[in-house]
Amino acid sequence: MKIARVFPRRTNSTPVDNLAFIGHPDLFSGLVEVDKIHISVTFSWDLPDAEKLYKEWSEIAPTEIGGPATGQRGDDFTPGMYLKKGYVITSRGCPNRCWFCSVWRREGDTLRELPVTEGWNILDDNLLACTDDHIKTVFAMLARQKKRPFFTGGLEAAKLKPWHVKEFAKLNPIEMFFAYDTPNDREPLFEAGKILKAEGFKVCHPLRCYTLIGFPGDTFEKAETRLFDCVKAGFMPMAMLYRNQSGERDSNWIRFTWPWARPATVRAKCKEAGIWLAEK
Ligand code: SF4
Repeated sequence: MKIARVFPRRTNSTPVDNLAFIGHPDLFSGLVEVDKIHISVTFSWDLPDAEKLYKEWSEIAPTEIGGPATGQRGDDFTPGMYLKKGYVITSRGCPNRCWFCSVWRREGDTLRELPVTEGWNILDDNLLACTDDHIKTVFAMLARQKKRPFFTGGLEAAKLKPWHVKEFAKLNPIEMFFAYDTPNDREPLFEAGKILKAEGFKVCHPLRCYTLIGFPGDTFEKAETRLFDCVKAGFMPMAMLYRNQSGERDSNWIRFTWPWARPATVRAKCKEAGIWLAEK
């Protein structure tokens, strides 16, 4: 069956083949011969646009709306279908139930290990919560790739074991993202930083850390402390600004976030604060 995929917006991970479309159909879209059209929605704030897209694309072929924002559980992963080639998901779900997170609500809190397909950018919800056998299969797959891996799905520091770190070191990732979302993450992050450093990982490279900020009750001061803590633990922070269900974000928080989402400006902030721990 020939399926076209439509995405409300382009991101780094959007497929680029000739059956992947962004937004509204154009003059030539009617010439595309497909059996079905899937509108894939990642972010809940794109759902109203997806409804409009549904009406327009339905005139071309039978159309469905799906994707994480609809609350639909993910199936087995098909490389290149809803994510660009190279991106890969080998497990879905997470045993944690973080208050702000949609993963366990959508995928369940029982983690599902999927057949491991080829790719080099791991997007699993919580790879380190998988069984050792599954993680070893993923590492073996990554070792076969011609490209160095990225771990952009978010690694849970509390689940990091010394054997993972040895394997990570062999894989020599370009970037690996941990997460500092709740106060419970702080201590494990510092512990993970120590194990990684002992295995030869440099401070802040390739170690990164998604850091949730701007949620109800958060302040600039508290957020800055957590962001600097990431650096002290050995990770380059990447601020992730909290959004409510409708996707709204406070403009003051947007201004605060911007310099904390880019390594160059984070370095400048650390230098200013005299806590830069860069190692070459
Ligand atoms: S650990 Fe990550 S994936 Fe799991 S519930 Fe928390 S935020 Fe979501």
